[in-house]
Amino acid sequence: MDISSILQGGYQHPLSRSWQSRRQLTKSMFMYPIFITDDPDASVVIPTLPGQRRWGVNKLEGFLGPLVQKGLSSVILFGVPLNCKKDFRGTPADDENGPVIQAIKKLRSLFPSLYIACDVCLCEYTSHGHCGLLHSDGTINTEPSVERIAEVALSYAIAGAHCVAPSDMMDGRIKAIKRKLIDAGFGNKCTLMSYSAKFASGLYGPFRDAAGSAPSFGNRKCYQLPPTAKGLARRAIQQRDTAEGADIIMVKPALPYLDIIADAAQLASDHPIACYQVSGEFAMVHAGAAAGVYDLKAMAFETTESMVRAGATLILSYFTPEFLDWLST
Ligand SMILES: [Zn+2]
Repeated sequence: MDISSILQGGYQHPLSRSWQSRRQLTKSMFMYPIFITDDPDASVVIPTLPGQRRWGVNKLEGFLGPLVQKGLSSVILFGVPLNCKKDFRGTPADDENGPVIQAIKKLRSLFPSLYIACDVCLCEYTSHGHCGLLHSDGTINTEPSVERIAEVALSYAIAGAHCVAPSDMMDGRIKAIKRKLIDAGFGNKCTLMSYSAKFASGLYGPFRDAAGSAPSFGNRKCYQLPPTAKGLARRAIQQRDTAEGADIIMVKPALPYLDIIADAAQLASDHPIACYQVSGEFAMVHAGAAAGVYDLKAMAFETTESMVRAGATLILSYFTPEFLDWLST
């Protein structure tokens, strides 16, 4: 056998196996998605998302305190308003008394070390359930959508969010948000993480259950990318969002789009690259484990390690609490 064919000597020991990865999972790579609802005492199980709940602000201390103790470093908040009056422009999105702004303030005071990101979108707050404002024929009206989304992002920054993360996929919103943050004095106080390559995926089902954000008519295919669209994803990452001032580039979902994560790592090589292991991916790992196909922990590691291998430096995952334990041992 040729000398160059002998590889196994390089990974025969657990430690030398670990050296074969360029980078390894760390606790600080994990950002935990949290659903915040407007009943302050809520702690409601989400049946399709194993182990996850909708939380009221009064429950956040008891829920997150132990996780912060274990090394939880960041969360991303999603508002789930159940009692607000939704309208065409998503007015409740930046209601001072709404769940997200209340939760930002609460978490800032409870956990000074915790990094707080906020998803920014209108779909949870619009009467039609779309992510932007609409023309009378039901199509997206981009300019006022972008203006409204930037307004909401700024209000989260003012409330104390360390990071705003627009998930709407409207063209031009990164530039508009960045400009608004800068003009209001938050250019150096708030990170802008863009959901840059967000695909129209079949993996968002449990999230829509959790957030109650399915559109009342039509779908989101006019703004979310077609799953086959590698070129569009590359343009969204590089020509659009990186050029418009995004501080972090995100790919969503993660597992079926590892090639796009690798593209993002190359196209935005000087930016942190985030990926979202979305609700359906998480539920899929759980379902396979429950069916005896594989071990849950092993597959949680294999899937997230594949994201790191592809180039991700930040992973939004519902497995975050488990990884705080798993990465301690
Ligand atoms: Zn949306």
